[in-house]
Amino acid sequence: MSRVYNFSAGPAVLPEEVLKEAAAEMLDYRGTGMSVMEMSHRSKAFEEIITTAEQDLRDLMGIPDNYKVLFLQGGASQQFAMIPMNLMKNRVADYIITGQWAKKAAKEAEKYGKVNRIASSEDTTFSYIPDCSDLPVSEDADYVYICENNTIYGTKFKELPDTKGKTLVADVSSCFLSEPVDVTKYGIIYGGVQKNIGPAGVVIVIIREDLITEDVFPGTPTMLTYKTHADAGSLYNTPPAYGIYICGKVFKWIKAQGGLEVMKEKNEKKAKVLYDFLDQSALFKGTVEKKDRSLMNVPFVTGDADLDAKFVKEAKAAGLENLKGHRSVGGMRASIYNAMPYEGVVALVEFMKKFEEENR
Ligand SMILES: *Cc1c(COP(=O)(O)O)cnc(C)c1O
Repeated sequence: MSRVYNFSAGPAVLPEEVLKEAAAEMLDYRGTGMSVMEMSHRSKAFEEIITTAEQDLRDLMGIPDNYKVLFLQGGASQQFAMIPMNLMKNRVADYIITGQWAKKAAKEAEKYGKVNRIASSEDTTFSYIPDCSDLPVSEDADYVYICENNTIYGTKFKELPDTKGKTLVADVSSCFLSEPVDVTKYGIIYGGVQKNIGPAGVVIVIIREDLITEDVFPGTPTMLTYKTHADAGSLYNTPPAYGIYICGKVFKWIKAQGGLEVMKEKNEKKAKVLYDFLDQSALFKGTVEKKDRSLMNVPFVTGDADLDAKFVKEAKAAGLENLKGHRSVGGMRASIYNAMPYEGVVALVEFMKKFEEENR
């Protein structure tokens, strides 16, 4: 068996310890005589899996009691609709446009009400985070929406916007559990887990209780109403059970590492190796403003599309996979999520050095 260093933006690398544990439990989960994939979601064994997962997530993020944790399906993209359907009481929301995902979310919300794009960095292909210290927040806005870490462009909000008292809703798909977070600053924190937490198929929504109501957009399906899932403890229907089980293992793995403070230190150390190299390289350069750089997704280019393609091809042959950049940015992108070991980033930088020498 040989594993590569997988720099995919998502689905992405998972901790090897977690995969090994899951493999060991595959045929017989703790004496049940069956796999977690085969068991009832109403069974005692699964009930323990989901309640433990929720509690571990609450411990890691310090989630207050007045927030619900929901394990849902439909990907982060389904939340683009679910959020306005449930939250747009005045039929108005403000969106900050920092990339494709925020753009898509805003477009979807327009089906349910008026969307004000109160800030954007589209003028420079989303290479920075706009100043959000004094935004023209709409008086009747039901919420202010951000995509906190921009997976495609490699930018991250280092400071949350001043929403002037309005509810903040954040898509944290690609920075979930990468650093400590003050949950009380948000109305909703949500993300697809396939970037930094687990297998595709699970979306985690952390939502303040007062936002969970029956007063939703007329015609909202039962399955797209937060209250349905909140009242049923995410067991209204069959949840993505195996995915939740793996997420639970990743929560335990992060706890064993020392929690989110330690994750942040590790992520900073990893990102520094790559950014320091990019800053002095004569061949490669980063594509975003330094102050807004993501710790998770690092896009870079040589400026020559043929050379970029050669790099991606040779890197793959050297066991460094999925470095091709998103089609809208071109070049390369290294996603260095929690589960990417420090050694993986060092191996990438060593390879980049060698490539630079050979292609000067
Ligand atoms: C990947 C991603 C999405 C889309 O996730 P799906 O689960 O595929 O719908 C949305 N937002 C961000 C920030 C992402 O990185």
